[in-house]
Amino acid sequence: MVNVEKIRMVYLTSVEHSGSTLIACLLGGHPQVMTVGEFGTPFPKNGNCSCGAIYQDCAFWQKWAELAEQNSVPFELGNFDINILPDPAGGFWEDLFYYQFPLKIVDRIRDTLYLLLPQRNKAAQAKIDRSVRLAKILCDAAGASVFLDTTKNPLQAGFLAQHQQVDLKVICLVRDGRGVMNSLLTKERTYTPESAVDSWLWGIRNMERAQRHYVGSSQVYFLKLEELCQQPELKLTELLKFVGVEVDDVEFDYSQAKRHIVGNRMRHFFDGTIKKPDEAWRSELSKENLALFEAKAGRINRKYGY
Ligand SMILES: [Zn+2]
Repeated sequence: MVNVEKIRMVYLTSVEHSGSTLIACLLGGHPQVMTVGEFGTPFPKNGNCSCGAIYQDCAFWQKWAELAEQNSVPFELGNFDINILPDPAGGFWEDLFYYQFPLKIVDRIRDTLYLLLPQRNKAAQAKIDRSVRLAKILCDAAGASVFLDTTKNPLQAGFLAQHQQVDLKVICLVRDGRGVMNSLLTKERTYTPESAVDSWLWGIRNMERAQRHYVGSSQVYFLKLEELCQQPELKLTELLKFVGVEVDDVEFDYSQAKRHIVGNRMRHFFDGTIKKPDEAWRSELSKENLALFEAKAGRINRKYGY
């Protein structure tokens, strides 16, 4: 039997606007951690890389493309096509393939049944294989021991956990749902108060189910964004221990020129400083919106100590 060396991957799942770019920038400054942030999220080739160059002119992405070609791995800058999501036009069977059920046993029975439908599995597995091979190429080139993906998609964590060449750890990043609701309402124009709460609930639910059904509890770290902001040194140390990289005498490098991260605007400016938690929701959310949140999501928010 061929002994294939496993790649150590850390996958971050969270709802959007929960601080995933901060984690990518923070851990990405560690010499043993390689990350491009939201690895599975498409971006425009002519957009700005966090290093300051245009993506298509950036030497980092050019080198990665070259190495991918040498290893016969498809590489399309700006669209790696690795993110596992149901095709919106795929219909019932497509939705069933990706759905996260409340009970682990139901998810496992569904998985077994779908092994009988190789076409659907093949398409998903091809994406996961490509992501693993691309991550490995990058880690090998940089001499890094861990690849961090902050695409935030809980489905991806479930699929990666089942990949034979992946030694997976999962960071479940949680932020007070009221903070997420306020952030979605003030920064994303497409949300209504109802859809903002629903989006938070949907993300939390799938994050919990994916880790509970596919990832052992010792391989999961629940990180509350507010705790990281309040006790940065303590939480960063815990995080590094969990990831499995050096904790003592590490020289973090937060220079912009060495960062090639896909994520929000913070990726351009991060200098290693972790600010106090953003609690604007306390003054910005109306009484009606707070009542709506409480009715729909108060119980689950309290479960996380909020
Ligand atoms: Zn760059």
